[in-house]
Parts: sequence; structure tokens; C-alpha cells
Amino acid sequence: MTTTLLTGIAELVTNDPATAETGATGSDRRTTSASDRSARSELPGAGRLGLRTGAAVLIDGDRIGWIGPADAAPAADHRIDLAGRAVLPGFVDSHAHLVFAGDRASEFAARMTGQPYAAGGIRTTVAATRAAGDETLRANLDRLRREALAAGTTTMECKSGYGLTVADEARSVRLAAELADEVTYLGAHVVPAEYADDPAGYVDLVCGEMLAASAPHARWVDVFCERGAFDADATRQILRAGTAAGLVPRLHANQLGPGPGVQIAAEFGAASADHCTHLDAADIAALADSGTVATLLPGAEFSTRSPYPDARRLLDAGATVALATDCNPGSSYTTSMPLCVALAVREMRMSPAEAVWSATAGGAAALRRTDIGMLRAGARADLVVLDAPSYLHLAYRPGVPLVHSVFRAGTSPIGARFGAS
Ligand SMILES: [Zn+2]
Repeated sequence: MTTTLLTGIAELVTNDPATAETGATGSDRRTTSASDRSARSELPGAGRLGLRTGAAVLIDGDRIGWIGPADAAPAADHRIDLAGRAVLPGFVDSHAHLVFAGDRASEFAARMTGQPYAAGGIRTTVAATRAAGDETLRANLDRLRREALAAGTTTMECKSGYGLTVADEARSVRLAAELADEVTYLGAHVVPAEYADDPAGYVDLVCGEMLAASAPHARWVDVFCERGAFDADATRQILRAGTAAGLVPRLHANQLGPGPGVQIAAEFGAASADHCTHLDAADIAALADSGTVATLLPGAEFSTRSPYPDARRLLDAGATVALATDCNPGSSYTTSMPLCVALAVREMRMSPAEAVWSATAGGAAALRRTDIGMLRAGARADLVVLDAPSYLHLAYRPGVPLVHSVFRAGTSPIGARFGAS
């Protein structure tokens, strides 16, 4: 197994508070002063980041082999000097809709000139997706996955939900399983036009033949629990069926208005309740008191010009918060986790440290993964190298492509910008 030692790390985000270093005296090049560093470690949420300076990281095959002071680093086959750059865990995007054809740029433009977003827009993409061949869908998914990787995303969840027939949902989860890390069955995305007069019949299909055909390729079951999509009774029926088929619940909840989604997510022990834009006090208490992660998707509010969720209330109540892109062609056509971090800080009252934690460790929690989202010996070697001395620059320099290189499972797919020596 090949080992690679990363040195010259100005600031290392581990998300492992146990290994955080205070008053480090490493001998590598740094661009921050000691007073700067101690001020930063007191910023809200910074304690959870497990920040280290003067550290080196040993990649051993596809895993992290060792993290410690650079001047005590073990020998390695290769050494890479990162020349004063910051390193953090790869982003974990726990919510994306990547199996589709076509785009809805015109709808976006119309919305930006005053038309409101409604769940029904999904049907446009459903028609294009049904008409597309497997190769078209696979190529589009792969393009988006690579785009996300280049922006630092090393783990991606992917939902079905633009097929909405037994055959089209089954092929959606099958294609997702080829290219995405985590696959979610979302037959309950919207009631398709052909079932407009028989929504209960569609729910039966989602719970029956469609589920049976899709479950072998998926780990998760999701429902768009929203006015205009699926109500509380239908949501419970679908989650019960999905659970019986061995899938684990996650839920689109409380996006467009108040609703029962968050409470149902907590009731079912869902891994995550996603959107959480319109919450009352009972919803926040339910998230804080359950193991259900609140996944916030600020790309959706940005792209629909809607009020953002209030992350501060969730964090202050003790809820676990994740950030994800919601990448989809209708309401949030971005794969950029750095954009989500910047929006979370600017618009959702998260500190830069909280936002970075939520985009990495938070996403891992929302996917119930312990091998990703943090850097420590034994974890998968998923790392992002920034062309900046600190993670703070992700929000401080919005829109700037700061990702210098990315390691996924120890390999550096876009790392051509430096060579190992
Ligand atoms: Zn979504």
C-alpha cells in the first residue's frame, strides 16, 4: 500500500476535538499569528472542528494512517508540501437529485422576474427524464458528480424521483447506485399527471410494486411531505412500507410552509429532516430531542428567492445541523458546498465553523456514516485542500473557486495542480 505524507498544512480541520492542538509549535510554514489562532479557537463552534496547526497527515492507501505534529511524522513513500494551505475533510452532500434529463433555466428566469415556486414544476423534468435513454441519464449524473468533486464533495447522496413509474424509478435508483455513494428511493416526489385524479392509487403504487423494484438498489426512503405533494397520512404510509422493505427513512419536511413533516421524521426516527425552513417551537424541540438531523438546503432558498431557515434557533436548541446542496434542475441547480457554506454564514446565522462542521461531519451524521466527515486515523482519506490559509475563507471569499485539490479515498482525482515528490 502506498503512503503519502501531506505537510505544509497551515490549518487542519479534523472535526475530531480529541486531537485538537492548542498552542502548537510545529515547524511548518504558517501564515497566521499565534494571537490570530487563539482568537479563532474561541469563535462559536470552532471547538468542534478539532483545529490543528503544525500538523501533517499520512494517507495510507484509501485511509488516513496518521495525524500528528509535522516534526514527528513517519516516513512515507511520497511527500507533498501544501505550502501553507488549509486542509479539511471532504464535503458530504447528503441531499441531491441527480438522475434527470434537461434543465429548467427558463423557469428559473421566470421565477426571478416574479413567478412563485410550486412543487408542480417537477413534472417538467419527469417528462424529460422518462424520454431519456440510460446513457443520457448516466452521463448527466456523472457530469454533476465530477463537478461536485471538483468543488470538494467526496461523498454524495442521490435520490430518484423524476421517473415516477415502476420502470423509471427502478432504473433511476439503479443508475444512482452506479455513481453515487448513497441512494434514496423517492418515488414519492410528486404525484405524476396520470394519477392526478387518483393520488391514493399512486401512493399504493409507491408502497407496492415501485418499492419492490427499487428497494434492492437503495438504502433510504424519502417523501416530499408538503402541500401539493404528499400529506401526513400518505407520508406515514410510505415510510411504513419503506421501512418494512428494509429502507431507512429521511424526509423532505417543512420547506414551503409549516407542516407535519418534521414531527413525522422524528416519530419514525428518520436519519434526517431536510429543508426545515418553516419550523415552530415544537418542531425545533422534536429535532433537538431526537436523533434526526436537521439538514438545511440554502441553495433552494437562494434559487427560489425565499426566506432562509433559521439555523441559529436549531443550533441553540441543541439540534444537529447538516448542510447540503439539494442539487436539482428546478429549485437549486448547484453542486457547490462552498456556496452553501457561504449562504449559511451570511443568511442563516451560522458561524463559519458551524457551517463547515455541518457541511462535513453534519452531512456524515445525516447519512449515519462514521467513516467520513472527519479526519482521524482509520477514516476514509477524503480531504479538501484550499488555496487559502484557513477554512474561514470559504465564507469570507464567496464565489471564489478556493478548492486547490481533492483526495477521495486516498486518490487525488483533480490533484494535477501539484506533483508528489
Ligand atoms: Zn430535495
